[in-house]
Amino acid sequence: MKKITIAIDGHSSCGKSTMAKDLARELGYVYVDTGAMYRAVTLFAMEAGFISPEGAVDVEALRKSMDRVRVTFQFNAETGRPDTYLNGVRVEDRIRMMDVSSRVSLIAAIDFVRAAMVAQQQEMGQGGGVVMDGRDIGTTVFPHAELKIFVTATAEVRAQRRYDELTAKGEVCNFEEILRNVQERDHIDSTRAVSPLRKADDAIVLDNSHLTIPEQKAWLLSQVASLLQ
Ligand code: C5P
Repeated sequence: MKKITIAIDGHSSCGKSTMAKDLARELGYVYVDTGAMYRAVTLFAMEAGFISPEGAVDVEALRKSMDRVRVTFQFNAETGRPDTYLNGVRVEDRIRMMDVSSRVSLIAAIDFVRAAMVAQQQEMGQGGGVVMDGRDIGTTVFPHAELKIFVTATAEVRAQRRYDELTAKGEVCNFEEILRNVQERDHIDSTRAVSPLRKADDAIVLDNSHLTIPEQKAWLLSQVASLLQ
């Protein structure tokens, strides 16, 4: 059967990666979490001391070090999902923590960071049979993807999901702080100069504020089925 490219874009914390991972597993496709790649670069910049406590980024230092940043994925048989590695070290849980979340949109707005990540993403997805989630997959990375979904939900619903997810992992967090982070990332992601978050003209919108995960999955599979038949 023909292998297509599926681009899933949308706002922060709207469950894109859960749906993209499940869909990839269902179809036997490769899943690429592009947000994890920007998170890993952010962690690299934090650990290298390129981000001041006030949040100022030493852009030149990061530029000079970009060729030392290697983000890879390795399938985790226990979870059935890929884990993110930064220069060979597993950072899957570390990159989801609040300190990385609150800095990632600044790093993701830098042009040379995006150029490096987009090139890697295009390489990973060449040949099709891929589900990729992010902010600019349908607009910049794969503008000719056969299926493009743009996912959204209210900021409050998204913050609550993130809160539940972090709390379940044992991280002590504050709902208001998460809501502010979600709103701030939406703002930075949508207004940045390079590849801002926007719906591709030919993307299908999915507002999942009131959908359960099984309902969402059924909807998504019906979109794929109608395309592959
Ligand atoms: O998807 P996730 O919330 O993990 O992404 C983290 C951040 O990475 C986003 O808030 C956004 O700033 C950035 N990002 C991006 N382009 C992508 C994926 C993520 O700018 N394709």
